Amino acid sequence: MRPSLEILATDGAARLGRLTLTHGVVETPAFMPVGTYGTVKSMTPEELDGLGAHIILGNTFHLMLRPGPDIVDAHGGLHGFMHWPRPILTDSGGFQVFSLRSLRKITEEGVQFRSPIDGSAVRLTPEDSMNVQLKLRSDIAMALDDCTPYPATEAEARASMERSMRWAERSYAHYYGPGLEALAGMERARPPFREPADDAWRTEPPGGLFGIVQGGMHTNLRLASLETLLKLDFPGLAVGGLAVGETEEERLRVLETVVPQMPKERPRYLMGVGKPEDIVQAVVRGIDMFDCVIPTRHARNGHLFTSAGVVNIRNSAHQADTGPLDPACACYTCRNYSRAYLRHLDRCNEILGSRLNTIHNLHFYLDLMRSLRAAIAEGRLAAFARDYLKQRQGSQDAVA
Ligand SMILES: [Zn+2]
Repeated sequence: MRPSLEILATDGAARLGRLTLTHGVVETPAFMPVGTYGTVKSMTPEELDGLGAHIILGNTFHLMLRPGPDIVDAHGGLHGFMHWPRPILTDSGGFQVFSLRSLRKITEEGVQFRSPIDGSAVRLTPEDSMNVQLKLRSDIAMALDDCTPYPATEAEARASMERSMRWAERSYAHYYGPGLEALAGMERARPPFREPADDAWRTEPPGGLFGIVQGGMHTNLRLASLETLLKLDFPGLAVGGLAVGETEEERLRVLETVVPQMPKERPRYLMGVGKPEDIVQAVVRGIDMFDCVIPTRHARNGHLFTSAGVVNIRNSAHQADTGPLDPACACYTCRNYSRAYLRHLDRCNEILGSRLNTIHNLHFYLDLMRSLRAAIAEGRLAAFARDYLKQRQGSQDAVA
C-alpha cells in the first residue's frame, strides 16, 4: 500500500496527520522507537503497543547480516518475525555501513565492506538495499544514500549529494521495478497475523519508498537535492545527514530551507533526531516523523528524561530516595517503583532495570508526541513549544 497522509489540522508550519500504511494508521507527528535487531531492546511488542508506539524502525544493515533477509522473509517479513503487527520503517543500511569507516570502500556501484560479525566481504548497492527491505516487507523503505561527513566543504557535500541522488534514482527504479516483480513471483508463507484480508499482499508493494534529501549544511545543495527527488514520485521525503555533530542553528537553517519546499501532502521524516527539544523545534517547522536511539540507549545507561530534567539514576543522591522517578509521569515505572529501587537494579545490572528505564523513557517521548499533537489540534503549538523549550533549558542546571 502506498503511504498516504491525511492532514487533519495545521498550526503554523506544523501539521497534525493520519499516515495510512499497509499495517495500520500512524498519528503524526510520530516518534518511532528504534528496533535495531528486530527488537526494541528489552520491550515486548505488547509493551510498545501499550506505550502508544504506532510505528517502529528496523535496521536493514543489522538484519541483513543477522539473521539474513531470507529467514525474516520465511516469516512473512519483519512483522511476522518479531510479532509486531503495526507499521515498520526500515532504513537503507547506508548509515551503519558509513559508520564502519576503515572497513568500507565506496564506489559508484555501492559500498563494499567487511562484516563486523565475521569479517566476510559484503556488498551493499541501492538494488541490494531495496531487495533486503522488500524481503523485510517494511511499510516504509528508505533509499540508499551516501552519508555526507560533517563538516564537509561545498565541493565534498555536492559530490556526496549528487551520488545520493543517483542512488535514489536507482533505489526507486529497482524498488518499484525488478524488486517488486521478484517479490510477486515468490511463494510466500502467509504471515502469522494481521495482513490485508485479500491476497493483494502477494503482488502489491508491501509499502512505499521514501527519498532522502542530502547536501550537508549547504542550503543551495539541499534545495538541489529536493528538486531532483521531486522528479520521482516518492510517497514521502526524509531529511538526512543531520544529527551528525552540527550546531542547532545549522540544523534549523537546513529545515527552514527545505521543509517549506516539500509538497504538503507527503509525509516528512527527519532522520536520527533527536533530543526532546530538537523534536519540538522540528515539529514547529513542519516535520511529521522522527526516530532516535536516545530514549532507549539512555535508558540502559541510567539517563532518564523527566519533567524536571535528565536524571542520572546512578547518582548516589538517589540511593535512599523512596519517591518516584518523576511524580508528574503516569508510566508503569513511575507509578510502581522508587528511585532507590531503580538505582539498585542498575547497580546490580538487573535486566528489569533496563526494562523499567526503557518503559519510562519511551513513555516520555511518546507522551511528548501526544502533547504536540494535542497542541497542534488546539492551535496552541507556539505557546506549548515556547514553554517546553524554556522549561528544558531551565532544567539543564537541575540535572541530578
Ligand atoms: Zn515514568
